[in-house]
Order: sequence, then C-alpha cells, then structure tokens
Amino acid sequence: MTVYKQILKTITPLDEMILMMPTASAIICAEETVPIVTANAKFYSLFNSSPEQEISYLNADSADRLRISKRFRHFAQDKKSFETEFHIGEDSTEGKWIKLQASYYASIHTMDLFLCCFHDVTAEHSGSYEQERDSIKIQENVLYDSLTGVWNLEHFFDVVNQRLLESNEMFQMIALDLDKFKYINEYYGRASGDMVLKVIAARLLNVFGESAAIARSYADEFYICIQKETITKEEIDALVYAQIQLENGEAVKVSIKLGIFSYDAGSKIYTGHECMDRALMACEKIKESHGRNYMIYTTEMEEKMHRENEMEDVMEQALEQGEFVVYYQPKFSLETEKLVGAEALVRWNSPTKGMVSPGIFIPLFEKNGFIVKLDFYVYEEVCKFLRGLLDQGYDVVPISVNVSRVHIETTDFVEKLLHVVNKYKIPYKFFEIEMTESAYGVENENVIQVVNQLKSYGFPLSMDDFGSGYSSLNLLKNMPIDVLKIDKEFLGETETSKRSREIIRMIVEMSKAIDIQTICEGVETNQQAEFLKNIGCDMVQGFLYARPMPEENYIEELQKYKTAQI
Ligand code: C2E
Ligand code: CA
Ligand code: CA
Repeated sequence: MTVYKQILKTITPLDEMILMMPTASAIICAEETVPIVTANAKFYSLFNSSPEQEISYLNADSADRLRISKRFRHFAQDKKSFETEFHIGEDSTEGKWIKLQASYYASIHTMDLFLCCFHDVTAEHSGSYEQERDSIKIQENVLYDSLTGVWNLEHFFDVVNQRLLESNEMFQMIALDLDKFKYINEYYGRASGDMVLKVIAARLLNVFGESAAIARSYADEFYICIQKETITKEEIDALVYAQIQLENGEAVKVSIKLGIFSYDAGSKIYTGHECMDRALMACEKIKESHGRNYMIYTTEMEEKMHRENEMEDVMEQALEQGEFVVYYQPKFSLETEKLVGAEALVRWNSPTKGMVSPGIFIPLFEKNGFIVKLDFYVYEEVCKFLRGLLDQGYDVVPISVNVSRVHIETTDFVEKLLHVVNKYKIPYKFFEIEMTESAYGVENENVIQVVNQLKSYGFPLSMDDFGSGYSSLNLLKNMPIDVLKIDKEFLGETETSKRSREIIRMIVEMSKAIDIQTICEGVETNQQAEFLKNIGCDMVQGFLYARPMPEENYIEELQKYKTAQI
C-alpha cells in the first residue's frame, strides 16, 4: 500500500477536496483490482465499509468485477471519463445498485487515477437482478458481437457457466469453424467475408433457436451451447454446407467443420470453458481425417492429446540421445527372387515405452514440423550405413527413404539432401526417394520442380501408397517416376475382391507400358505372391519375405540373398 500513500502525498489538495464532497466520492486507481486511494465518509457508508477494510473491485458482485476493472483500464488508456452502474451486496435480490461517474484525473507514479462519484440508484432498478444486469451490459455494448449480433465470448461463458451450474440435463457444446475463410476474405474481399459470417450467424439462430447460447469467438469461429440430449443429423447437415449469396449476386460455397462435445451437466465436472476445449479438440481432429465435416469428442481424443503432448516434450531430447533407430525392410524381385533393395523405416526406441511404431509419432511430427529434423536424421543414418557397406565391399542394393509432404514444401530440401548424400559420398543411384502420392500434389509447381531436380541428379524416385489417394493416373503423366509402389490396402482386398485384383492388374500393365517398375508392399501370403507374379509385378516387400529389421540382420540378408534363392 506504500505506493498509494506516495500518491496520496502528491494529491493532498485533492484529498482534502474529496473529504468535503457532498456525495460519496473517492480517488480510484485503474489497476487490476481497482484499489481505493482515498475516499470520504459518505463513500464508506454507502459501501458499508471503513478505511481499514480493503475494497477491491469496488465490492462489486462477481458478475460485474471483470467488467468494471476492464472499463477503468480501457478509459485510463484514452484518459477519458465514463459512467456505469453495478451491483453490490452478497445477495443479488437485496444489495444495492450503484451508479458510478468516473473522471480521469491524472497519471501519478505511472498509476492512472480517476476521481469518482457514487450514487445509490437502487430505486431506479425495478426489474429482476438478471434483467437489470443484462440491460446495463447491452447499454455498454459488452454483450454482443458487433458484426454478427450473436453474443460475445465473455457473455457466452457467463451464461453457459450459469446454465451448467443450475441444470442436471444433457448439453451439447459445439465449436464451429469455417473452412478456408481466409481465402474468402482474400478472394471476394472483406465485406463479403463479413457477409458470410452474418449469414452463418443467422443460420445458427435459425437452426438452434432463441434458447441456444451462440457466440462468435475469433474471426471465423462460433461457439454454441444447447440444452439437448443429442444433436441430430438434420441439424448437422443444415450447417455443414452453405451456399451464400453475396451482395453482388455471386454465390460462395462455404464448408463448415463442427466439433461436438456432449456433456451431462449433472456430473458437474467441467466448466463451460472446459467443455468448449473438448469441442475444439474434436474440431481440430477433423483436419486429420479426410472428407469429414464433424467430429464428436471421445475420451480417446483426450488420451491421444496427452500422449502427443508427452511425446512433444521429449522428442528433441530423444533425437539427441539416439532413441530413434532405423530399420530396413528388404525388397525382392519376383522374377529372380533376389534381394533388390530395402526401405528405411524409423522406430522410436523409448526407454519408457519400448519400441514405438512410426504410425504413432509420424503424424504428430508432420503436424508440428519435427518430421523435417527426424527425416534428415534418418537420411544421415542411411548414408552412414551405406558408406559402411560400400567400404566393406558389400554388393550394395538401393535403400529407399520416406519423404514427408511437409519437406517437399521447404525451399532447401534438395540442397540439404545433396549435402548429406555427398558428405558420405553415396552414389545417387543407391539412395532412392519414396514420396506418397499426395505429396506429389499435381497442382503444386514447387513439388514438380523438386521432383524434376531430384530426377536430374539421378536419385531413383518411387511413388508410395499408390492407389490410396486421388488423381493417381494424372500424376503419372507429369512425374518422372521410376517405381510405383502399390498401396498395401489394395493387396489386402485381392483375395476377396475381383475388382481389387483387376485394378492391380491394370496398374501393373499400364506401368509396364510406360516403363515404370512396380512393387507391391504388404505381401503377407503365398497366394498374394502367386497372384503378383502371374500379373507380372516386378518387386515385392512384405512380412511373407522379411519384416523391417536392424542393420546387423539386414547385413545377413544382404549376404544370404546375393548368393542364394528365396
Ligand atoms: P509406408 O511408407 O507405407 O511403409 C510401409 C509400412 O508397411 C511399414 O510400416 C512396414 O513395416 C509395413 N509393412 C511392411 N510389410 C508389411 C506386411 O506384410 N503387412 C503389413 N501389415 N505391414 C507391412 P511402419 O514401419 O510402421 O511405418 C508406417 C509408416 O510410417 C510408413 O508407411 C511411412 O509412411 C511412415 N514412416 C516410417 N518411417 C519413416 C521415416 O523415416 N520418415 C517418414 N517421413 N515417414 C516414415
Ligand atoms: Ca514408404
Ligand atoms: Ca507405403
């Protein structure tokens, strides 16, 4: 409190004036808790208090505290005066309504001071406590989002928290996110972007009705809370696709993502914010699953998030400590039955979790960008290994590495790759590059350029997971591919589906016609091997022949298959 005493010294004349004021008056500092610097006797009697008692937030009800402190700080910035009303007293029905007139006075010792007068206006507030509080908030425009007219976040959580406390029913919390809103803003202009948001807000009101709590959070994100057993398919469908007519007559198609969390308010375990966090988590998950528009929160999502957070905390350290190891899975020629190559596949040998498979951590590392670092580590390990084999006089076959989509978009990929491969003086023909079909991204000029560059250096290129994505055939036309790797999902279906068999047959035939080699991955049965051999597929990789294995074992394979037959 010493600093306020200092202030007091500086303002002694004012202090005396306060004491003589005919109304309840005080000098108040625009700090977080809105502390009183000095006040007159009328002030203390109005607030049923005394100079010895600390008065934070002017003793306002919890519902008004944040609002009052915000107002003080806001008007301190502009050095302006303001007026507001708030409620004091333990009981919302008893208590008092206070009118506050605050005039900016000065900034002393970097503290912004207001000269404030207070009046008891309880008699003017005849409505219910809630009505009166809302009407004040409306006047102050702190209830609504000015663009769309739905609530703002503060009010949303005020109301939702209250509803969750008072009810024991089921609630649906929904986080709504617009796809590519940035694009709409950039392409059609800001006014059109605003228009889209307004239409969506109106549609939300229409679908969920007046009783729903609806707010806009950030640019293109809406929060909804409805008291309801479940959300229906019709409601979801009414929201996820929207054709919106702009003022100039143009129609914009917007697609919308919904994350949904069903909450039993009777459990009383979560606050409104915690519920919404879960809806947002579900919404976030949609990004990982192609073609979905909504996702309902499950506890697995949360577990996955915890797992991912744990992995993120230790990934850098794990890399430094050599916990990532490279395994090699041999590839064989179907015709000669000889070892013709291997694929490098990374594993995380974690001291706490044991051997973790890449399916668990690669998607996370692709999201957070760590994959770039990890992949270059893998490339370096592969080069080191190859160098050792070459130096020891082994009859080396190419080793392929995986390249994530995220790399190919980095500008210095080729440069960095050349640096590693040259450092170990590895002939480029031994360092094969696998990219998944989607990484090639037909329309991406940058990718095409990178692929052509790699090809010109003489790196063998293979297209991984062929058949699992889209636009496969088109890609073959534009890309200088050496090997096409047929997705293992396809093969899995060959025993039961004639269609899958025919598709693989066609892919193999077509590839032959344009001089592209084919390899099928995930070969697990003799029957599959037989089928692939009959249709003329060139190579195979799969558990039937060999699992991914550590370096030592791969060296044994290399020796064995160079001389013998499978
Ligand atoms: P992928 O590139 O499609 O690799 C083939 C996956 O199929 C490997 O899984 C391999 O162990 C598995 N596999 C091989 N033969 C069979 C079989 O007969 N049956 C079955 N069911 N599976 C078989 P893995 O090692 O778990 O790797 C999973 C994925 O993780 C890889 O799929 C690849 O996309 C990614 N990945 C692995 N290592 C790396 C890496 O160093 N960098 C990057 N960017 N991605 C990697
Ligand atoms: Ca691969
Ligand atoms: Ca694959």
